[in-house]
Amino acid sequence: MMLGEVILTLLVCIAILVIAVAVFGAWAIMMLAKMVLGLMGIKRKSSRKPTDGMRVCSRRGCGHANPAQARFCARCGMALEVAQQVKMKRVAMF
Ligand SMILES: [Zn+2]
Repeated sequence: MMLGEVILTLLVCIAILVIAVAVFGAWAIMMLAKMVLGLMGIKRKSSRKPTDGMRVCSRRGCGHANPAQARFCARCGMALEVAQQVKMKRVAMF
């Protein structure tokens, strides 16, 4: 009687553990897949950024493609030429 109950309890515990591990594993795989897909999406977006005749906003989180004649970003209002000069200076410093 006692041994049977112990074995049953152990089996239930193992079953719960297996289910928990399976659920967590599936969740972890989903998160990893989302991360990989997100990184791929960012890379695709960045590869699309250098559009011909367009000034892409260098501000983080914006990346709005403005017309070549635009001096300020139409989305966030950032000065496009100044941003490019700052970038050039930073590159020269390093
Ligand atoms: Zn912008």
